[in-house]
Formats: sequence, structure tokens, C-alpha cells
Amino acid sequence: MLGHKPCPACTSRYTVHLQDVLGQRSGKPIPQFVCLDCHSFFNHSGYRETDEQKAHDFEFLHNMRESIYANQNRLCLELVTRCPHVQTVCEIGYGLGWFLRSCNDYRRKSYGFETNANCHAYATGDLGLDCALGLFDASHTKHYDMFASIMVFEHLEDPRALFTQMRDRLNPDGAIYLCVPFVERRDWPYLWTAGTTPANMPPDVFYDNDVHIMHYSVEGLTRMGISLGARSAEFFTSPDVAHNSPGAYQGVLFRF
Ligand SMILES: [Zn+2]
Repeated sequence: MLGHKPCPACTSRYTVHLQDVLGQRSGKPIPQFVCLDCHSFFNHSGYRETDEQKAHDFEFLHNMRESIYANQNRLCLELVTRCPHVQTVCEIGYGLGWFLRSCNDYRRKSYGFETNANCHAYATGDLGLDCALGLFDASHTKHYDMFASIMVFEHLEDPRALFTQMRDRLNPDGAIYLCVPFVERRDWPYLWTAGTTPANMPPDVFYDNDVHIMHYSVEGLTRMGISLGARSAEFFTSPDVAHNSPGAYQGVLFRF
């Protein structure tokens, strides 16, 4: 069956319905589409988190806080090394706030937005950060040298809209860093079980399709940023300093 939805990443009209994937949380089948141009996958579920689920998300992050701080600190060091001119950073979806704290460690001024009230309370109370509870939208008029968003864009139905809002609040020579769970060709075998018996955790990239509704290829995310005005895109893997695995965060750094 032909899909008529444009690719949410690269906007190609050459998308097809591939199969229905199983939502781990809802137990419901969700139509999955693939972009024939950039090999990104998308499955819009309509799922919304309850307050109970948000409290669970906070507990999950809180239990991992030491490794998150170690790895996000290393990621921050990599970013300020690649972009030494960056003095102000805004993070969209800061979670517990450890990346913002890391920015402060490296003497950068940080701000951020987060919709989970438990996370916001921890970031302001325990970490003493300057940050907002709520969505980042056009009513926020401050500009920054860098925007970062770590493990957020896989949750978005319209990632290009948020990317555009970030771009419009960048200072000259600004940068945007996005980290997502990418889907590459080596992950395609998980498509065989995504409709019936997905695993319940990584490395199966199709394990939580209720909330991971965008599965970008590196090419798809790169095309998104370049088509929205970035002059370059650098893909890199930030080392996992907590567990010595091959990598903690994979992401793309866009320069403007
Ligand atoms: Zn695409």
C-alpha cells in the first residue's frame, strides 16, 4: 500500500507503509512507514504519557544518574571542544539536568526546558539549575550559541518544527546537537519481529514504538538539518565512560 505521508525527517514523498508494529506499552498495532530516500522509519502512535508514567520515567533516570552524569559530562566536553566559541547552551528535554550541570562545569551558561515536573523539581532543587518546566515554543525569545537535545527527537511527530524553532533562536555561528537512537542497516533484522514479538529493550531499536515514533537514519537526520539551513553536519559517537561500551551517545552536530 502506498503511503502518502511525507517523511517527517527529510520530507521525501517516497514513503511506503511497511507493516504494523506492536506498541510495547499499549499492546496495539501501529502503522509503520519507511522513507525510501533516507531509510528512516516512522510510526505515529498518538500515545500520551500519564502522570504515573512520568513518575516512573523519573525513577528510571534517577536510578541511572551516576552513569548519566559521567556520560553527559563527556558528551559536553566533546561539544565545547568542537565548538569552543559556545558560551550559552539551551537544552530541550533536559531530564534530570545532568547535561546542563555539565555545561556549568565547563563554565558555560545553561538553560533548558522539560515537561516532566518530577525532573524539573530535581534539576532546580537538587542540582540548583536555572531551567523551565514546560514546552519550548516561539514565546521564548532569548537566543543561544547552542541548542542540544538528547534522546528527545525520536518522540516527535513533527521534528522539523522544533528544529526550526531552535534554529530561529540561535546566535550567529550557532550550533544544534541532536542525539537519537539511530536505525542503521544492521538494525533491519529487528523489523522481522517488530510486528509480533519485539524485544523489551535495546539493542532492538523497535522495542518501544508507542513513544519512539521516529527512527532516523544518520542520513535522514542529517538531511533534516541541512535542508533547514545548517551549513554542515558532523556525526560522532561520544564515549561511554561509565561502562566502557563502544558508545554512550550517537548524535549529529549541526553548524550554522
Ligand atoms: Zn526521509
